[in-house]
Amino acid sequence: MSAKIIDGKAISANVKEQVKAEVERDKLDIGLAVVIVGDDPASRVYVNNKKKACEFCGIKSYEYALPAETSEEQLLELVDTLNADKKVNGILVQLPLPDHINEKKIIERISRDKDVDAFHESNVGRIMIGNFAFLPCTPAGCMELIHSTGIDVSGKNCVVIGRSNIVGKPMAMLLLHENGTVTICHSKTKNLAEVCAAADILVAAVGRANFVTADMVKEGAVVIDVGINRLENGKLCGDVKFDEVSEKAGYITPVPGGVGPMTIAMLMRNTVTAWRIQNEK
Ligand code: NAD
Repeated sequence: MSAKIIDGKAISANVKEQVKAEVERDKLDIGLAVVIVGDDPASRVYVNNKKKACEFCGIKSYEYALPAETSEEQLLELVDTLNADKKVNGILVQLPLPDHINEKKIIERISRDKDVDAFHESNVGRIMIGNFAFLPCTPAGCMELIHSTGIDVSGKNCVVIGRSNIVGKPMAMLLLHENGTVTICHSKTKNLAEVCAAADILVAAVGRANFVTADMVKEGAVVIDVGINRLENGKLCGDVKFDEVSEKAGYITPVPGGVGPMTIAMLMRNTVTAWRIQNEK
């Protein structure tokens, strides 16, 4: 069989349209501060895409591009200023930060009501117990893509490859909240191919090009590819060997054009939520 392609570009465009319509309808004056430290090219691309999405949705974006030698103290001061700024409803500090800055310390300093990435410990805890305001953008985007297939997660075998705090773990939680039977795989997992091949829904968040091959995929499965890997020829590719897996899966996300645009669309949604938390208490 040949898999149906899950069109993340179209689905994310739809989410952004909804956000734009909501912002216009309720005449919301929303601001998102985007902080970038240093000149990592990939981070620059992500930040530019986030700014473009803000523009589309009618959300003001305030960019703070700081030099790589910015001290931890200076960054903490900026976060304090943004926490206190009424025009700023969401704060996003683009990761990774330079090695001399403690990322955890910075994230914990962001007001939890402005933490649109949902990386703050208190927001992570709330995701765990299912009482959350913000959903972490990438896993939430993956859930939207899964929903677009019309397949009900409840009772399905779901396998997530990767256990990072940003993707793997929260992804597993969101699947669990929808009553999936969830397995988390990682670098120490035994019989990885076998475990993956039992999945009705397989999410790959490893960061290794072409890692998931057809023998690891069940016939008809939903395959969500979170990976973003740059090949030597400069092309982007996911964690899934698309050509062979798309012959076997029921649904599959492409890279680019799958999870990536969804992450940004969900960030826009979270920024509106942040405004509502701060203004409708
Ligand atoms: P990470 O490096 O923090 O985590 C990778 C995970 O993969 C780890 O938990 C590790 O245990 C697991 N792993 C590594 N080798 C393995 C192996 N041989 N077998 C099984 N598991 C293995 O990465 P991350 O931040 O979770 O990101 C994963 C990928 O997703 C990266 O390519 C990243 O660029 C991409 N990403 C994409 C988006 C998006 O918006 N599309 C957002 C975040 C991350």
